[in-house]
Amino acid sequence: MLHRRDGSSSGWTRRDALSALTASLGFGLAGDALGAAGGSQAAAPVAEGRRPSVAFPKGAVIRSLLADLVPGTLGRGAVLFHEHLSYNNDFFARLGSEAPQRLGSPLAGPFTGRHFMEDLDWMTEELQAAAKDGVSAVVDGGHADMGTDVEFLRLLSNRSGMPIVKGGGYYRQLTYPPRIARMSESELVEELVRHARDQRWGAFGEIGTSDDITPDERKMLRAVGKAHVRTGLPIFSHTANGKAAMHQLDIFEAEGVDFSHLVIGHMCCYFDPNPWREVHAAIAKRGAYVGFDRVGGEQAAADRPRVEMVLAFLDGGHERRALLSSDFSFQASSKRGGGGGVARAVTKFVPMLRERGVQDDVLHRILVDNPRRFLAFVPRRG
Ligand SMILES: [Zn+2]
Repeated sequence: MLHRRDGSSSGWTRRDALSALTASLGFGLAGDALGAAGGSQAAAPVAEGRRPSVAFPKGAVIRSLLADLVPGTLGRGAVLFHEHLSYNNDFFARLGSEAPQRLGSPLAGPFTGRHFMEDLDWMTEELQAAAKDGVSAVVDGGHADMGTDVEFLRLLSNRSGMPIVKGGGYYRQLTYPPRIARMSESELVEELVRHARDQRWGAFGEIGTSDDITPDERKMLRAVGKAHVRTGLPIFSHTANGKAAMHQLDIFEAEGVDFSHLVIGHMCCYFDPNPWREVHAAIAKRGAYVGFDRVGGEQAAADRPRVEMVLAFLDGGHERRALLSSDFSFQASSKRGGGGGVARAVTKFVPMLRERGVQDDVLHRILVDNPRRFLAFVPRRG
């Protein structure tokens, strides 16, 4: 199916592009969008003329921290499947210790004092701005081993009115607590299932691997696969910028993971030696989602190759397997810090796709339908 118009709409202002997008998503630029997000804990009508083109299985829910939401009632806007809303500086100190810091890099320290994601007022403001920008729900991909605080996220969802889906689990070898090495796979499975229930996780993620997958990371992937089979919870992964994507798929497949509830992540900042076109297509053909989840950054130049990747993926007929998000992590990306904010995948990256002729129905599928299909699961007792 063609996803592009002939000719391009270049010359649009950002506001033109955003207006067209939000209209295509079924709400106006301001005001109504906040209502869509804020009202989504209750039943909100589906926008006229924009009924979801997705049928959900009977009993399927999207599990936010505050409620199990019927997928068709989760507002009308974009759902961002991989962002971060709660971190602390210890985590960044660890990340920074991994590689020498470049001057001007977002990872340049110092990593002391309070992280901006520990400031409830600041983050409330960011989420309310995201609602105005057309976002209906946000998935947080952080864990205790990244300084993520579930209670903070619960308060934040309450105060901002933004539904937050908690992704749970462990990040990667760098941050595993020492006991992970000592735990058996089945002990890990039991722990994951228990925490998922007690903390109301709505997904496992981000579940990561390093440049070279370690034995503990393999064990973690297998345990998460088994916990998914027990609970039905969807999974989204972290790859080292595309590395070992197929390896992750193989491990999850061996555990019987339902690929229609699996995203292989960070496939847009691609450093794997295998050609990205082939890897993206192979993931989609096996039925999993390809996460273009570091888009909408502060440097438009960095997004240009990512636009080409998404266009190639759509040209290959894989629009039902594409997901967008921004991996929001740094103060400079926040609205208060002068950046695009939590919604930047929608407000900064999507206009670049529109300029290249990607049509409204395709954008609607990628931003609205696909994340709901990925997240909506029929809970099992575990
Ligand atoms: Zn990640």
